[in-house]
Amino acid sequence: MKTIFENNSGADGICLSGDNGCVLTDSIPNDFIRKDKIGLPQLSELEVMRHYKELSDRNFCIEKGFYPLGSCTMKYNPKVNELLSSLEGFINLHPMQDDSDSQGALELMYKLQEALKTLTGMDAVTLQPAAGAHGELTGMMIVKKYFETIGETNRKKVIVPDSAHGTNPASAKMCGFDIVEVKSDERGQVDIETLKSLLDSDVAAIMMTNPNTLGIFEENVLEISEIMHKNGSLLYYDGANFNAIMGWTNPKLMGFDIVHINLHKTFSTPHGGGGPGAGPVCVVDKLKEFLPSPVIKYENNKYFRDYNIKNSIGKVRGFYGNFGILVRAYAYIVMMGSDLKLASADAVLNANYIKEKLKDAYDIPYKQSCMHEFVISGEKQHHQGVSTLGIAKRLMDSNIHPPTIYFPLIVHEALMIEPTESESKHVLDNFIDIMLKIADEIKENPEEVLKSPQTAPVKKVDETLAARQPDLVFKEVKQEPVLCSV
Ligand SMILES: *Cc1c(COP(=O)(O)O)cnc(C)c1O
Repeated sequence: MKTIFENNSGADGICLSGDNGCVLTDSIPNDFIRKDKIGLPQLSELEVMRHYKELSDRNFCIEKGFYPLGSCTMKYNPKVNELLSSLEGFINLHPMQDDSDSQGALELMYKLQEALKTLTGMDAVTLQPAAGAHGELTGMMIVKKYFETIGETNRKKVIVPDSAHGTNPASAKMCGFDIVEVKSDERGQVDIETLKSLLDSDVAAIMMTNPNTLGIFEENVLEISEIMHKNGSLLYYDGANFNAIMGWTNPKLMGFDIVHINLHKTFSTPHGGGGPGAGPVCVVDKLKEFLPSPVIKYENNKYFRDYNIKNSIGKVRGFYGNFGILVRAYAYIVMMGSDLKLASADAVLNANYIKEKLKDAYDIPYKQSCMHEFVISGEKQHHQGVSTLGIAKRLMDSNIHPPTIYFPLIVHEALMIEPTESESKHVLDNFIDIMLKIADEIKENPEEVLKSPQTAPVKKVDETLAARQPDLVFKEVKQEPVLCSV
């Protein structure tokens, strides 16, 4: 596909000067008027539309095909969310408008906070963080400030399991903590004895994901929270996998103190391709004085922004977070109601169904039943001549987005599959058939599989050449851009 610079036709698009253009130049002081060419391509409106339509057609999305990207919860984003978030009253509201002008928006944020409190079991919420990783950073800043406030600044260590998402150690490190890794046992869970051996009075917190990134529920989580709290440490819950447990249990019952929720995963807001996202952080009572300000409150029949948070870590995001995303998530929660519980049940059922059907053809390192996702190992196939990367590329030829690959790091040749509750049995069966067919193909004719992807816009690339002679800069502009001169 050509770039828009190569597609430069010279056609009249819009011109901000000239006889029939606008009179902008009249109102701009001469000193500020550009003297040289700006270097933009010139195309007609229709040509621009075609260019961007072609780009968007190349994009893969959940509306285009099955998207079992493990750990990412690529569920369907109901279109009613879009409708509601584009209501005039929401999109024309200025963030600095007075509380009395914005009661509806504040009510929505307040009720979303309340819903997240109910779902997580926590006592207070900030809606500000713009992503899961940003929620982790916010959470770790709260951990740091908490220990400063109680005078335990020696607590410099954060424990992170070896199955954790890379953002966990990165966020803790950014707050100045030292990362201590705890190993998983042969059942894919935090090894309690190892954990105990790592504890001392310098440990600030443990960051855990439950179910963890292997799709396994940490059975010892209550014992872990007891051990950590006895040690004076806090427990951070990475809620990226919250889609597995909604309404069945919650992080508070498991003993956690701080939780982030990825609205763009669990609560069906747009995801991938640039966001924006939202990663609200929920905390237990003793940590609420550290939340970023403002928090949305309700008193005397009025919703308001409370900036008076005693030991607030400050602001972590402009204004109140990605408001349009909060509207979408709230719409989804209200629409689903108690069916959220059913969504989790279906997500778990779908994952177990696929896992059972694939277990003879692929190695599944952790045998117990899984939660909303599971990890298989392409080790057997690797020995037969096709790595996990090859399997992923072969799936693209069947209009399926590849699962997450080579993560978690503790599984060789990992493929992490998360179907979500959005998919019908028909779609799951089709995916299973294709995975089984690929396993057969690899046994019989691995060379053929290695030719994939064959149907994608970019076919199989020469990886050796790409590594040896990386061509990273676009050089070729065949035509001098036709310019709108001032
Ligand atoms: C997605 C994910 C994150 C990071 O969330 P973002 O919203 O992408 O920043 C953290 N941990 C786990 C387990 C995840 O799956």
